Amino acid sequence: MKVLKFGGSSVASSENINKVINIVKESSYKSNVAVVVSALGGVTDLLLKAGELACKADESYKEQFNLIEKRHLNVVRELIPVNAQSSILGEVKKKLNKLETTLEGVFLINELSNKTSDKLVSFGELLSSYIISEAMIHNSLDAVLKNSQELVVTNEDFSNASVLFKPTNQNIANYFAENNHKIVMLPGFVATTEKGEQSTLGRGGSDYTAAIIAAATNSSILEIWTDVSGMYTANPKFVREAFPIKDISYQEAMELSHFGAKVLYPPTIHPVLAKQIPICIKNTFDAKAEGTLITKISSNTNPIKGISHIENMALLTLEGSGMVGIPGFSKRLFGALSDKKISVSLITQASSEHSICIAIDNKDVALAENTINNEFNFELDRQVIDPLVIEENNAIIALVGDHMKSHQGISGKMFSTLGKNNVNIRAIAQGASEKNISAVIAHKDIKKALNVLHAEFFENQTKQLNLFVVGVGNVGGKLIEQIKQQQAYLIENLKLQIRVIGVTNSRKMFFNEDGIDLDSYKNQLENGEDLNLDLFHKKVTALNYRNSIFVDNTASADISELYADYLKESVSVVTCNKIACSSSFSNYKHLKSLSRGYNAPFLFETNVGAGLPIIDTLKNLIASGDKVTKIQAVLSGSLNFVFNNFNEENSFYNVVEQAGVEGYTEPDPRIDLSGVDVARKILILARESGNKLDLEDIENNSFLPKASLEADLVPEFMETLKTEAAHFEAIYKKAAANNCRLKFVAEYNNGAANVGLQEIPSDHPFYNLDGSDNIVLFFTERYPVQPLIIKGAGAGADVTASGLFADIIRIGNN
Ligand code: ADP
Ligand code: ASP
Ligand code: MG
Repeated sequence: MKVLKFGGSSVASSENINKVINIVKESSYKSNVAVVVSALGGVTDLLLKAGELACKADESYKEQFNLIEKRHLNVVRELIPVNAQSSILGEVKKKLNKLETTLEGVFLINELSNKTSDKLVSFGELLSSYIISEAMIHNSLDAVLKNSQELVVTNEDFSNASVLFKPTNQNIANYFAENNHKIVMLPGFVATTEKGEQSTLGRGGSDYTAAIIAAATNSSILEIWTDVSGMYTANPKFVREAFPIKDISYQEAMELSHFGAKVLYPPTIHPVLAKQIPICIKNTFDAKAEGTLITKISSNTNPIKGISHIENMALLTLEGSGMVGIPGFSKRLFGALSDKKISVSLITQASSEHSICIAIDNKDVALAENTINNEFNFELDRQVIDPLVIEENNAIIALVGDHMKSHQGISGKMFSTLGKNNVNIRAIAQGASEKNISAVIAHKDIKKALNVLHAEFFENQTKQLNLFVVGVGNVGGKLIEQIKQQQAYLIENLKLQIRVIGVTNSRKMFFNEDGIDLDSYKNQLENGEDLNLDLFHKKVTALNYRNSIFVDNTASADISELYADYLKESVSVVTCNKIACSSSFSNYKHLKSLSRGYNAPFLFETNVGAGLPIIDTLKNLIASGDKVTKIQAVLSGSLNFVFNNFNEENSFYNVVEQAGVEGYTEPDPRIDLSGVDVARKILILARESGNKLDLEDIENNSFLPKASLEADLVPEFMETLKTEAAHFEAIYKKAAANNCRLKFVAEYNNGAANVGLQEIPSDHPFYNLDGSDNIVLFFTERYPVQPLIIKGAGAGADVTASGLFADIIRIGNN
């Protein structure tokens, strides 16, 4: 015989139940089957909710009842042929009436004991098994219904009763010995006490019912049919890359389910383990998928089989000198907790025995606190034990595998992976069997922790970078184009998967948690929600993706003020916006130290020389012990364009206008022409060389006449370029007479910096600088005479975007 168990989602609707019937039919061709079913998906929760409301004298329990009633009646109408419906509807209504009466009773006396609660929830399985057995009979299957309450006997721990195996096994053996139907349909979860009261086996307990029947009948296999294709390497709802484990040992499956892999109710393994009956976990919605086979010894030698987690955990720490060397301390603690049926999921004790740390379910905190305070009343009074420290909202995350003990370094890898990703670990425990290593982390970090550990232990080491891109104008638009074009190459060659998760322009924002389709991001953005930078930040932090990068493609001061908020959440920042790095020295330092403290790179290569590797080169020089003594540079593509094109035929006004049209200047050309932009750049280079400088410390020798400097608005300013034409011509003529070209030069020399227009003679490296190119000469202790030169295109959306892209890849390669 085989035992097949179908969970709540497998029997949630008539459509799903038809799938179940087909699976059972197929199976029953080969052998007899016992079919155990859960309540229709969600019905147990509805029953509990109805009970809770009725108990609070809240009439709305009736709404819950109506929902329950409607779902069952609908399923009957959809599954059973019309001419056969009335007697079945009659029977279902009879059961529902009983349920209604029970709820009314709770409503009237305002009391809901575990015993009554068990009566209530049992209706779920009793109804589902009845309806499905009738549907099978009407599908011409040789099926019969047997109420498990007549077979499974338990103690009186209502809501989570323990099975009394002797009478239970006897009942089951007797029943099946007599049975002559191919298919026996049984409700899961429900049972009866020796006194004949209804009891249940705990939430998720239908799996257990099936295992008990499989063991008592010496079945050949126990099949657990659910909504996923097996036991996965991690909960597939949290880790997209998780995959079904082909085969696994009983012990490993038990550890995984104990640590939260809900796909199998933990006690399920015990009865079948003793008889060595294999368990197969299968998907009702993809019956062909192989699933997971659970047996005594698995052929899978991977030291780690899976990662699981338990939510809603509280960490309790008891500390104090009164604990040292006192035998029986732990015994008293665990004895007291166990008397109150509080289960402890994790224990760590410092080797000094000075403190002990346990993890329990959040819901047990108040009771545990009371219990511990009572037990250690004497010690607490004398202050030899400190008051109990309670931290709620934690989770346990566990790596599981039989072969872990023979592999060194797994825990090291686990903790360094969590550490690198800024997941704070509150406590650690390694099971004595060494089949699991578990750690307590904050609830908010669950998804990130599962994903980084999964990537480290199960994935092909492809690193995912998750981008949040602010600004998709000139530069941002090009960046997205470049990412789109390179995505496949980066996965193939650098094992980097770059996903754009969020994007904004100045009006709208749009997110896709799986990565935005870059072919249609413009449309999606237009249809996105209105831009709200606070909400944007909230969304980025709520997603809490590993390797999150905030990319600023704007020139906005408001955006630059947000960097600290992102870095503090361990979100890296990549920016072409110069404002933050050229703001006050203290802010610049603060951002750098946040970046270090939160392990989140803050990269701004494009602040100087667009895509040219200037800052990165400088960083490498400093890191390798060199010292910068002098920097000479032409750092303004815009000013270079202007002075390369300005001559007798082409007036200064015309050239500046043309530069604007061709996109070489900022929208406000004064930022370029005043020298402020260049001053910011040399400031950043000076700071990166290790100097404490502020923008006011940079000497700015402006070539603009007084009228231009004093112009308030852009049109007024442009006008002065015409009225002051003679001023500019004079500068040009003087340089030409000296056989020199005009270049706007930035200089840093031993702690001081200045910017200004200079006449450059023909033998100088700056003389032949074309178009909008930039050049930087680094004089250092290692390059004292012949400087290290970096030269090339220093402006333009394309090269700036590729500089940002290079910073993003740097984070990926980190
Ligand atoms: P059923 O109603 O069929 O008993 P459950 O909801 O109890 O189904 O269990 C199946 C669910 O278990 C999956 O949908 C999944 O969300 C969750 N789950 C948690 N961890 C794992 C895991 N490691 N592998 C598979 N599923 C898991
Ligand atoms: N219906 C019960 C529950 O939801 C038992 C089960 O489905 O296994 O917990
Ligand atoms: Mg289940």
